[in-house]
Amino acid sequence: MMLLQITEPASQIPKTTPQSCAIGIDLGTTNSVVAIWENGKPKVLEDNIGPLFMPSVVNTASGELRSTKRMMHQPTNIIKGEYTALTAAQEILKTLKKRAENALGHPVEQAVITVPAYFDDTARQATKDAASLAGLEVLRLINEPTAAALAYGLDEGKEGTFAVYDLGGGTFDVSILSMRKGVFQVLATGGHIQLGGDDIDALIANHFKWDDHQKARLAKENLSHGVTDELLNALCNPLIDQTLLICVQAIKDAGITKNQLDGIILVGGSTRLQTVRSAVQTFFEQEPLINLDPDCVVAFGAALQAHQLTHGVDTLLLDVIPISLGIETMGGIVEVIIPRNSPIPIRMAQDFTTYENGQTAISIHVVQGEREFVKDCRSLAQFTLTGIPPMLSGAARIRLTFSVDADGLLTVSAQEQTTGIAQQVEVKPSYGLTAEDYAAMLRQSFEHGKEDLNNRLLIAAKIKAEQLIAQLESALAIDAHLLDETTINDLKICIEAIKSQLSTQDRISIQEHCDKLALLAQPFAEKRIANAIKQKFQHQTIS
Ligand code: ADP
Ligand code: MG
Repeated sequence: MMLLQITEPASQIPKTTPQSCAIGIDLGTTNSVVAIWENGKPKVLEDNIGPLFMPSVVNTASGELRSTKRMMHQPTNIIKGEYTALTAAQEILKTLKKRAENALGHPVEQAVITVPAYFDDTARQATKDAASLAGLEVLRLINEPTAAALAYGLDEGKEGTFAVYDLGGGTFDVSILSMRKGVFQVLATGGHIQLGGDDIDALIANHFKWDDHQKARLAKENLSHGVTDELLNALCNPLIDQTLLICVQAIKDAGITKNQLDGIILVGGSTRLQTVRSAVQTFFEQEPLINLDPDCVVAFGAALQAHQLTHGVDTLLLDVIPISLGIETMGGIVEVIIPRNSPIPIRMAQDFTTYENGQTAISIHVVQGEREFVKDCRSLAQFTLTGIPPMLSGAARIRLTFSVDADGLLTVSAQEQTTGIAQQVEVKPSYGLTAEDYAAMLRQSFEHGKEDLNNRLLIAAKIKAEQLIAQLESALAIDAHLLDETTINDLKICIEAIKSQLSTQDRISIQEHCDKLALLAQPFAEKRIANAIKQKFQHQTIS
């Protein structure tokens, strides 16, 4: 078996010279914005073409490429021509860099870039890769809602617990944050990867039977062509309700109640709609904050963070991981190591052991998801820890450590505790998840929670039963002579009873029979120990 590469996790805050200028980039699905922090204020850059508020569109030989950010979970899949999500992001960032340089009149090499809170390891890494291919060093990736809160928090000097409601062109995102004395913590996040202004455009086009969604978008933004507040109200109702349901869950995840929120921050172009604002206000029972431009607030936060990182201002920024990280254990069951909504950076460890006697290698399968079974989760990486000395099953202690750095990137290390054999591996996220898969992941975890748990308990009971039977059968093969016929018979009957139940769903009965078998086998175990001691004693006196 192959040994894995050993690497160090990189989570150091980059050091830069104080006079360098780093930009903040909101790399949006629909629009991208570049801002800097100047004289204690955020400012959207402006070059000879206009403000750096630019559609996230790539012009290719075979037409326009839009919303490529949705594909960042599969960054190397071809979308069109030779373009992938990675190269499209690279193109957009290259243009933003060039225009920022024109606006500032000097080279720009560093940036803080925002990503959606739901971006996984693959998408985050791809964003960093795209930036570096475009000639930008990423000082830090920060979550979009965190950036918005950062802009509001320090700009307005507000403290408390806040909700960030972000309805953009194609996505919805909500985060619950607490802000205390310049320390930000994301308590919970939630969202939907395919819910936003584009859907509203589609509803309008459908209502008027227009083919042109672009026309619908303009009509919506300008309240023209027969589109009114009343119509938008009626059309958008179900869509807005969906976002509010996600808010309910996020508030629950954060362990607070609605009335504990000190403010609601509105982010994203679609929150300009009056119907959205009123619905948000009614739901949260308070007027949302709108003093900062909802289109620019994310870029403002990124600009502020860039300024702080290059000027050594000590702001602690805490974020959370959006989806639980864990490993596969026997029976395809997921053991969560870092639960969803844990603040990052974070390091968590848990001990595991071998399943079979004499096992010298252990296969570690890192997964991401909210379901109880590996088959329902996303596979992130797989590696094998070798060189475990042969021991009885259950004797080895393998400590797995998961660490997620400030950018949300994951490193997994494994160490066998009795010998100290250690391997640290950087998990290379495996590509191959569609945006739909991702959105489904969170939804299904709520839908299947109870059924998953029952299945998990059943499979765990079966594995325990199989182990008990295997141990007992191998003991009988060696030491049956220590027992009388009746006892052997009783044990065998009980073993057969359990075996016949292993194909059923009757967890309680399996567990009861296992308890009975363990009780029956107790005197046998004692006899075996006594016998082993006796033999050892004889052996020692002979030699
Ligand atoms: P993203 O974060 O996905 O890049 P934005 O925050 O830039 O998106 O929001 C883009 C969306 O905002 C589009 O669907 C656009 O139609 C919508 N939008 C922009 N201005 C308005 C407006 N005045 N009224 C309603 N929707 C608007
Ligand atoms: Mg946005």
